Amino acid sequence: MKAQHLFLAMAAMALATAMPAKAAGKLTGTVIGTELSVDYSNNSASTTVNTAAMAHDGDLSTYFASYDRQYTWTGLDLGSQFVITKVGWSPRNDSKGEERVVLGMFEGANQADFMDAVPLYLITEKGKIGQISYADVNCSRGFRYVRYVGPENARCNIAEVEFYGNPGAGDDSHLWQITNLPTVIINTRNAEAPYDKEHDIVSNIIVISENGSNILEKTGTSRLRGNASMQFPKKPYRIKFDKKQQLLNAPATAKKWTLINNYGDKSLMRNIVAFEASRRSGLEYTPFCQSVDVVLNGEYKGNYQLCDQVEVNANRVPIIEMEPTDIANEALTGGYFIEVDGYADQEISWFNSARGIPVTIKSPDEDAIAPMQKNYITGYFNKMENLVYITQGNTSETYSDIVDIPSFLKLFLVGEFSGNTDTYWSTYIYKHRSDPKMYFGPVWDFDIAFDNDNRTYPILSKPDYVYRSGGSSAGSMNTFVTLLINRPEVKAQLEKEWQTMRDKQNFTAESMCAYIDSIADDLDASQRLNFLRWPILAQYVHMNPVAFRTYGEYINTLKNYVTGRIQWLDKKLNYVPAPSGLETTATAAVSVFAQADGTLVINGSDKAYDVYDASGRRCLTGSSESPARLAMHGMYIVRIEGQNIKIVF
Ligand code: CA
Repeated sequence: MKAQHLFLAMAAMALATAMPAKAAGKLTGTVIGTELSVDYSNNSASTTVNTAAMAHDGDLSTYFASYDRQYTWTGLDLGSQFVITKVGWSPRNDSKGEERVVLGMFEGANQADFMDAVPLYLITEKGKIGQISYADVNCSRGFRYVRYVGPENARCNIAEVEFYGNPGAGDDSHLWQITNLPTVIINTRNAEAPYDKEHDIVSNIIVISENGSNILEKTGTSRLRGNASMQFPKKPYRIKFDKKQQLLNAPATAKKWTLINNYGDKSLMRNIVAFEASRRSGLEYTPFCQSVDVVLNGEYKGNYQLCDQVEVNANRVPIIEMEPTDIANEALTGGYFIEVDGYADQEISWFNSARGIPVTIKSPDEDAIAPMQKNYITGYFNKMENLVYITQGNTSETYSDIVDIPSFLKLFLVGEFSGNTDTYWSTYIYKHRSDPKMYFGPVWDFDIAFDNDNRTYPILSKPDYVYRSGGSSAGSMNTFVTLLINRPEVKAQLEKEWQTMRDKQNFTAESMCAYIDSIADDLDASQRLNFLRWPILAQYVHMNPVAFRTYGEYINTLKNYVTGRIQWLDKKLNYVPAPSGLETTATAAVSVFAQADGTLVINGSDKAYDVYDASGRRCLTGSSESPARLAMHGMYIVRIEGQNIKIVF
């Protein structure tokens, strides 16, 4: 049966090759497309030779070769709407032809300028010279304008393009989503690609999710974003809707969103894993992050992370946004959102602290900040810094009146767990109104974390924390951090924070590796396309310390690092994990706690019990008449009525 199908398919293909113009259902229309083509007889631009029309003449020996190398296309104005069911293509018959159709994109639109274009099909295989390849299209919307956009630098070089379908406007029950991940489409005015951080390009932004059934189409702008990441050929973007917008499953309603490019991060998930660590640390706000595929003006750009813009918002940095008139009394005390920022001197609104930490003021923003507000936050930062530096103050205030130690330590732990050498190159801090504390967070930007930085690789061999083992520090920020964590009471609290994360937030190697595996599954189709678009898997880019041939090797390396790093932190922070072979079991009826002197109190049972230490050795027995008393602090398992209850004393 299968062989017969294949034979019929081949026969159909042969027929199509011989008489393509007469293939059943093939749509015709007015040829539209890129004007300038190449005249190879004198190597010049032409409008009469190798034109867009030659991709629709039914002749496999004629082709469209565009003069320009980017954003060139050939298509049809069908005159009225058709629901497209199938597309066909055949490459130019030359030595490079087969390759040149890979990542060629078919699109449909109802505006002549293609501002509302959505993808119909993306070619992922080499073309076949001398025949037409076909693909079914799964898109319920009808289109008047259809086109083939050549991949970047291919100059189209397409011999024939075909569209099949049925007349009608169709419906929006399902558009085509390129992979299982949401597809983000940016169509810009005049197809001008975003080129810097200052110029916002008018854009239509379309997000297709939930297997093509959820469609969002909004007007807005796009531009580049980032610092180092902006230098890569795969560009990071910031999109901004004209009106505040809810997006995918993000909690915030906002205009600004980011598309992180993950060029040097071949796992494509360092931010995702670090954000998961942030959530498990209990930090107040972790940025939203969702992997997506991005199409810009008909060109597949690869796998990106659609993330929050880190800014003041009820569901982002949760502080009151100041008005320029908030210049006295309580109103002057916040909210402020600042960034310890190695790049601060490139910003408009920034200051250097008294002891040399560069700080960018993010909110109130540079256009709206009142001088009183700038003075206030600068002075407040200096006060905090001074209290961290001095060992004994002559005032009643101490560093812990201003530094929110729990968030400082959580951010520290996410930075050290992930081995982020940028943690104190860029550190976000915010201050609420009428609250003296400076809160650390959110965490952000992990592309060189998880041992992806050749300056500190391999991190697990470093005896000291990564932030002071060769990472970047914004001015004297590292000194600030060291002064804090060297204080005995902060060090003790750091150990306690790690213990809480490990015990209560399922911060285990098994759980984190399972999380990585689930993300890798989710990313699989998209990572294949991404590395087809950017064939850099085996290349050293940015600060890569190693390069592998396969995506799987990057994932395994990431898991090995995470496993090793949790062990390293356990040792560094004196954490004793639960002994193996003595699994704890949940119980509602019986609970155990240790009094300050170590005496165990059992609620819900009067049975005798055994106490095991961290190595799994039985060390004590007890009962309601003679309760066990723990002599040393540590982790214990109490076995009672067949259940194992972990306690920490
Ligand atoms: Ca042709």
